[in-house]
Amino acid sequence: MKPIDIQTNANELYLDCNATTPVLPEIIEAVSHTMETVFGNPSSSHITGLKARYILDTTRQLARKTVGLTSGRLIFTSGATEGIQTAVVSAIYAAMQAEPGNRKTLLLYGATEHKAVPQALEHWNKLLGLNAQLVAIPVNRQGVLDTQFIAQHAKDAAMICTMAVNNETGVVQDLEQLEKVIRQHNPNVPWMVDCVQALGKKALNLDATTIDYAPFSGHKLYGPKGIGFMAVRDAAPYTPLIIGGGQESGQRSGTENLPGIAALNALFELMQDESNNRFQNDDTLQSYRNQLVDALSTAFPSIVFNHDLDISVPTTLNFSVEGVASRDIMDVFDACQIRVSSGSACSSKVTKSFVLDAMGLEEWRSGSAIRLSFGPATQQEEINEACVRIQQAADALRNSCLIVADTNNDNDAQLDGVVQLKYDDHCCYLIIDREAREIAVVDPHPALAGRIENIVSCQHYRVKAVVCSAADSVMSQSIELLLPILIPSQSIDEYDVFGWPKTATGVCDVAPV
Ligand code: PLP
Repeated sequence: MKPIDIQTNANELYLDCNATTPVLPEIIEAVSHTMETVFGNPSSSHITGLKARYILDTTRQLARKTVGLTSGRLIFTSGATEGIQTAVVSAIYAAMQAEPGNRKTLLLYGATEHKAVPQALEHWNKLLGLNAQLVAIPVNRQGVLDTQFIAQHAKDAAMICTMAVNNETGVVQDLEQLEKVIRQHNPNVPWMVDCVQALGKKALNLDATTIDYAPFSGHKLYGPKGIGFMAVRDAAPYTPLIIGGGQESGQRSGTENLPGIAALNALFELMQDESNNRFQNDDTLQSYRNQLVDALSTAFPSIVFNHDLDISVPTTLNFSVEGVASRDIMDVFDACQIRVSSGSACSSKVTKSFVLDAMGLEEWRSGSAIRLSFGPATQQEEINEACVRIQQAADALRNSCLIVADTNNDNDAQLDGVVQLKYDDHCCYLIIDREAREIAVVDPHPALAGRIENIVSCQHYRVKAVVCSAADSVMSQSIELLLPILIPSQSIDEYDVFGWPKTATGVCDVAPV
């Protein structure tokens, strides 16, 4: 299948904008026009090249205006990860100019930074031979950086890396306060602020700060992948990461990604045009969030939000539902055509969130976390539809084998059909025929024994079987324990040692313990 054969799905509700965004039609138009018409190389001195240079120069001006940077460098990159590398290389190389005995010994980074930051620090620290110690700045339960910790360690830091807005939780750091602490204890330390998730959501005025490096990414705000930019303060040390060709005044070589730059041009135009009706204002985004919070809370009564909404951008919601793994919610949302992510989308195989772990939230919250994120271009109709589908997804979870099974037993009397009970990573299934008052138990974990016993005795169910589906010594012990509890003593002889009724005719193929 060719890329062109992949069709759009008009029914899809994309609520994973912190991972990436769709490209807006006016941005696609700017990109394709540039590819077709302004295809010149900005370094060429003929008219075709000059037209391309015009796009490059005007976009740079628009970028400066967008982030409030008059002096200093504004460099186009392939995205934020490249910007982060450039900042890290620049700071580490600068630190190495000091005599070995006088070098700063720490590289500080926020514990909830995007992984590109600590991994770049680790890589370049080793490769360039600074051999400083990487230290994560702790955050509190709200995800806010510990300024006392910074105050204590800043004087020894060769670089400090923090972020403006967290990609998993939307938590906003107080940059003014951070700046005060950092500069009070180390006026010259290179300070990088990852601004990827702030663009278009928080106003930025870099001139008014002493932020040394601010990397940005186009695809997080309706641009294509592979384009980004970085603002660098005048006073900041700078070492190019990519050399050869002299583009970007020798600061980042390689022929410029002009279609990508044209995309940023169209994006900045939209951002600066207050009359545009593409991007919603903050009040509207807040009202979207309120609507989603209400819908989620109604659909999942045991929901908890994993961040303080008062200190988060309105476009990100991170939540957990007790007793339901994020994978299960993801699956049922996916079936309802709602696209969200679990943990960090950039590492979707990871089932736990290191961000929530760093915030000190309980393990089950980190293992059940779902991130729902929209963007400034999200429309009211999409939010309305999302609310309807969230309820459908919750109903589907309750009515199918993925029933919400939590510590709240209020619904036990209503359980019917195939029910999943959870304990940690373990799933136990109850097959209930409520009308006939019969139940079969599959894979009962010992920790769930009390709950199962309660369901059976309170609902006066006849137990048809207590079985395990795979060889597992914990489970077989559990069955041994449960059989005499669940089955009346006069009937116990009717079951074999694996919990199967001896009279059963259609036993499926399970491995005995
Ligand atoms: N920083 C943050 C906070 C992000 O969310 C991301 C993307 O996931 C990045 C950096 C990396 O950006 P890019 O994909 O442009 O390299």
